[in-house]
Amino acid sequence: MTGPINLAGKVALVTGVADDVGFGWHIAKALQAAGAEIILLSHPRVCSIVERFLTRDKSATERVLPFGVAGEFKPRALIGCDVGADTLDDIAPELRSEKGYDGKDVSIEGAFKAVRELTPHVDIVIHCVAFSPEIAKSLPDVSRKAYLMAQSISSYSLVALARAATPLMKGRCGSVVGLSYMASERAVPFYGGGMSSAKASLESDSRLLAWFLGEEGHRVNIVSAGPYASRAAKSIGDIGTMIDTTAQKSPLRRAIDAEDVANAVLFLSSDMARNVTGTTMYVDAGYHAMGV
Ligand code: NAD
Repeated sequence: MTGPINLAGKVALVTGVADDVGFGWHIAKALQAAGAEIILLSHPRVCSIVERFLTRDKSATERVLPFGVAGEFKPRALIGCDVGADTLDDIAPELRSEKGYDGKDVSIEGAFKAVRELTPHVDIVIHCVAFSPEIAKSLPDVSRKAYLMAQSISSYSLVALARAATPLMKGRCGSVVGLSYMASERAVPFYGGGMSSAKASLESDSRLLAWFLGEEGHRVNIVSAGPYASRAAKSIGDIGTMIDTTAQKSPLRRAIDAEDVANAVLFLSSDMARNVTGTTMYVDAGYHAMGV
């Protein structure tokens, strides 16, 4: 890709790819199309599934790079990483023998060891992960355990990934971008399982991380996306109604798609945004601006 967004020579770690539908897949494709080398850090349980999306004929169309760039989506590596675990000690013994875990160190520490074997530096980190075991439960019914797990996997992991990546970003003007949803600041009753609180802390932490990482020239930003029918979103409840409501009530009177989100992340990851940090950029057709 030529023009002002050129990520040639940059290495991007992209979390949260589990299929060819979610935001992570489209973000990774856009970053590769702009010239970045992609390393996927996916949940250990989904790595073999992602491998199939990367190789099977049926997904060839989904691998086509955007912006008319020749070639197909081909990450340099796919590494298993459970972002709920900082070290191997954080992975429950009964989980370690499960499919995908296979006795390996798939914690953040273990995954970054594998990253360091592939590259001496990292320029871009995409946090595209969210999970609550009780997503279908409204806030008053959410257990403490599920609430804390939502925080751990969906929010604290941004801090943990940024910490792990910082030594690899030294001298590189790194960019960290996370994905959020407007329920962080407005009441969206069916966005359950403690996820609205997790998104609120994710956004808050991104601002503080922008301060702490800014000393070394790294940037931290959030893209707050409108509703989109990914696998995770389908478990929230009536994602169709959420999408239709946004489409009817947003200033642009339309729904968003994954490419819109990928394009915003691409901008924030690039030097075009060299003085943009600590911000939350809405990609929701303007829905957040409405009062009714
Ligand atoms: P998705 O299901 O494609 O992505 C969620 C990812 O999180 C999956 O790849 C899953 O494997 C991963 N994950 C869950 N637990 C993990 C763990 N312990 N370790 C590693 N990975 C783990 O869905 P998506 O909608 O593309 O979500 C991506 C991001 O976008 C999330 O942060 C989500 O909250 C955010 N977002 C989504 C919407 C939407 O409507 N789809 C709107 C705003 C923000």
